[in-house]
Amino acid sequence: MADARTAEIAANLAAARERIANACTAAGRDPGEITLVVVTKTWPADDVTRLAGLGVTDVGENRDQEAAPKAAATRELDLTWHFIGQLQTNKAAAVARYADVVHSVDRLALVQALEKGAAKAGRTLDCLVQVNLDPDPGPQPGNPVRGGCADPPGPIAQRGGVAADEAADVAAAIDSAEHLRLRGVMGVAPLGADPAPAFVRLADALAALRAHYPGLDVMSAGMSDDLEQAVAAGATHLRVGSSVLGSRA
Ligand SMILES: *Cc1c(COP(=O)(O)O)cnc(C)c1O
Repeated sequence: MADARTAEIAANLAAARERIANACTAAGRDPGEITLVVVTKTWPADDVTRLAGLGVTDVGENRDQEAAPKAAATRELDLTWHFIGQLQTNKAAAVARYADVVHSVDRLALVQALEKGAAKAGRTLDCLVQVNLDPDPGPQPGNPVRGGCADPPGPIAQRGGVAADEAADVAAAIDSAEHLRLRGVMGVAPLGADPAPAFVRLADALAALRAHYPGLDVMSAGMSDDLEQAVAAGATHLRVGSSVLGSRA
């Protein structure tokens, strides 16, 4: 496809890659260590085809209803599919049919459901433990209940993730599942807070897991607005949507 939309995406992609290169220079890192996952949610399968034509190898989606048909429509392209959204247990088997990497594994029941689905599909899935990066407000004067008025429940509930001190349990379950391969951690920076310390907490969580699983090599962190901070903290996978494809409706 060589249309206006392709040219728009190509320009955005070049700008995003330049930001990543600059962030790597600032952090003393090799850009070859970074995988750009372009998040295609809300955009059509044709955009996935355009991205593949522009050299993108990894794409991400957060809803099975949308991802499944898009993955099917672009099956002949040699793409790695990343599932990055909150995943209901009853959708796990469907996701296991097309996803190569599931970033959002945050509970034991989901590990079991993914293992069952992967076994049935005859596939092996790479899995990341999603760690909750929201600062714990704790019991505070005027905010006695966690999740109270100082801590809006909506977006926080959507971001999900396991508490850092429970990540080891989820990791162990993934590691012992025959059709799942534990690769690392994923996190989403808290809304309205500095992403840098949150990404450092994620890097710490990865380091703690590496004591038991030295081969872990993936830290998925950073989106359009905070990819520089993620690169500085050691991210290997950036999940970038709107900077490449435009703002979502
Ligand atoms: C949508 C989404 C992204 C991409 O966000 P942008 O701000 O568009 O770059 C990254 N990670 C997750 C989990 C998402 O849902």
